[in-house]
Amino acid sequence: MSPPKAAKAETQIHYRTCPLCEATCGLAIEVEGDRVVRVRGDKQDPFSRGFICPKGSTLGELHHDPDRLRKPLVRRNGRLEEATWDEAFAAIEAGLGPILAEHGRESLALLLGNPITHHLAPALYVGPLIRACATRNLYSASTVDQMPQHVVSGLVWGDPNAFPIPDIDRTDHLLMLGANPMASNGSLITAPDFPGRLKEIPQRGGRLVVVDPRKTETAARADEHLFIKPGTDVFWLAALVQTLFEEDLVEIGRLERFVDGVEEIRELVAPFTPERVAPICGIDAETTRRQARTLQGAAAGAVYGRVGNHTVEFGTATAWMAAILNILTGNFDRPGGVMTSSPIASRIDDGEPGGRGFRLGRWKSRVSGHPEVNGEFPAASLAEEMETEGRGQIRTALTVATNPVRSYPNSERLDQAFAELDFYVAFDIYVNETTRHADVILPPPSTLEEETYELTFMTNAIRSFAKFGEPIFGGEAPTEADLFARLILVMRGEGATADPASVHDELLKDAVGRSLGASKAETEAGTEPGAQANAKGEKGDLEREEILAALAGLSPVEKLLDLKLRTGWQGDLFGRRPGGVSLAKLAEHPHGVDFGPMVERYPARLKTASGQFELFPEWLVEDWARVRARLESPDASGGLLLIGRRHIRSNNSWMHNVGSLVSGRSRCTLLVHPDDARRLGLENGSLSEMRSGVGILRVEVETSEAMMPGVVSLPHGWGHDVDGVRMDVAVKHAGVGSNILTDDRVIDTASGNAVLNGIPVEVLPVDFESGPSPNE
Ligand code: SF4
Repeated sequence: MSPPKAAKAETQIHYRTCPLCEATCGLAIEVEGDRVVRVRGDKQDPFSRGFICPKGSTLGELHHDPDRLRKPLVRRNGRLEEATWDEAFAAIEAGLGPILAEHGRESLALLLGNPITHHLAPALYVGPLIRACATRNLYSASTVDQMPQHVVSGLVWGDPNAFPIPDIDRTDHLLMLGANPMASNGSLITAPDFPGRLKEIPQRGGRLVVVDPRKTETAARADEHLFIKPGTDVFWLAALVQTLFEEDLVEIGRLERFVDGVEEIRELVAPFTPERVAPICGIDAETTRRQARTLQGAAAGAVYGRVGNHTVEFGTATAWMAAILNILTGNFDRPGGVMTSSPIASRIDDGEPGGRGFRLGRWKSRVSGHPEVNGEFPAASLAEEMETEGRGQIRTALTVATNPVRSYPNSERLDQAFAELDFYVAFDIYVNETTRHADVILPPPSTLEEETYELTFMTNAIRSFAKFGEPIFGGEAPTEADLFARLILVMRGEGATADPASVHDELLKDAVGRSLGASKAETEAGTEPGAQANAKGEKGDLEREEILAALAGLSPVEKLLDLKLRTGWQGDLFGRRPGGVSLAKLAEHPHGVDFGPMVERYPARLKTASGQFELFPEWLVEDWARVRARLESPDASGGLLLIGRRHIRSNNSWMHNVGSLVSGRSRCTLLVHPDDARRLGLENGSLSEMRSGVGILRVEVETSEAMMPGVVSLPHGWGHDVDGVRMDVAVKHAGVGSNILTDDRVIDTASGNAVLNGIPVEVLPVDFESGPSPNE
């Protein structure tokens, strides 16, 4: 007799938000017992409309990945071994304490990665962690790919975090440069189902124009694709601006009296005629003029430039010209143009135009004197700060959800620098190319064990939307908020055994004080915040005690989130605005709640000191000298230029341990135009050797008509077959790390951003039998 079959666990469906990229798609996660059995797009999610990409469907695989760390690792006798949480925090205290005591806070580097912005607890606790570390050696993904936009947003309209979001649902003309949302699903814009939304542009009579050195998946869908030489977008955009002036097409519209510097811009771009820039960019003058006229003539148009625009030598100047175009064509803060989001977990009472403005360069890096930007130093300068001896040398590091040895330029040099740190703490779910050097690794819980709310990305969203999800699984490990709180306590010197609840209470106290309109100082001095609120009138008789009582029983992150929601522009103000939003109300709507499209926020949102759009800030004008010099003596070498590329099944370096995403033929190939391949003696499937100013690697060639002749493309984030990595699947599908070739000595000086596109390279044929790869 066969044994009776075990009863099948009941299937439950949980509706959550995908945390893997900026698109924030709604997911329907089917669970049986403690297993995820299926993940689909949530058709009832009003924002993402059922869309899901291949990565989202693997969330269960990621959760169950045996290589995902569940317990801390501590280095003992040279080897990373499992330890208890208390042992791990004790090891951090013991390792960091003497170094900080002897060499000071500047001997510590704090490095922050993208996933912080996708998770609720890190988004709420990262600010206090930065303050607790108390070091100026702060690095993040921002100086890898987006700092130019922060600089332009900060200097031109006064808020470095107010990005110009193309209103793709209402635009009639989208001019897109250096972006491939068909693969990335959008960057510095949250628009789930980007492919569907792009398809709707021509359906309503609009146009999509893509400018890119590769005919990308997005370019293939466009009404028009223009090849452009990598790194030259700034010249082309300047020529569009020049055409607007020359043909008398400048029409700013509603915001005109708030715009300063138009005549200065006219003079600045005067030499950048379409004819002059044509040989530099590879786009003929008549096409350039036609594009300027079409953009200006559209009822509502938007210029959107992303990674390919920002990760180049003139990244900030490029972002500046894109902003100028949007303003001069009247498309800034216009439905269908570029707008800014109104997240419901924030207030939108912008007040009068004007603010403190944006300051940068307040301090400088030790070795090369790079100015801080948004409180950070360039990722490209990290290795020299670690290597160069003397007071202030970085001797210890804390990395949070980041893999700089794969994502920062000149990765071989940085790999060596990490290996030589005195002590290194990583907060990460994998032992990867960077964390293999750690002395302690703290793994956060799986995303399915945490509350979900997209706090960060709703600030870039094309619609105001809110969705909350409770943890699907209970874990034995500490919550992510507890881990951050314990790290904060250790960094402050309060000890490895201090109670994390003290940090949770402190953050809540500060948040309540802020939401009531009281300054922290007043709160500490015992001023009744309620009195402040009463004075403002908005919150009636709201009192601290009432708020704390209403939040009782929630987890620490839920308290902070509920407070933001209830005091946000759609909030219920703790019962004073009937029908308003609270966490409890959101929980009744598992598919999320839509609050409509972006709305006009300017001029009230202008936070420059003048209360104007400052089109001609000194910082950008000084930087323009580099662009002008290149116009006078363009690069005439005619050599090959390397660009990166994104694939829909990949997400930088960290989704490569998911078998179903990396199966099949290798996607880590060098795309080469067939004419270049013939000239260089390369064949489809052959091995090539690539050389740049800093490194050499070998990679398989894939010939492709999609490439602009003279340009080759290699994806980033690969190169997993190095000693110590504990990601079995990734190691078997290792690929090569493109940042072996990128040069950390060349940066966009106005923002400190790394240069990852337009890298001069040589590509040579290699016999498969000719010996070991230089990557090994
Ligand atoms: S596009 Fe894919 S990875 Fe991004 S949020 Fe949607 S499902 Fe997740």
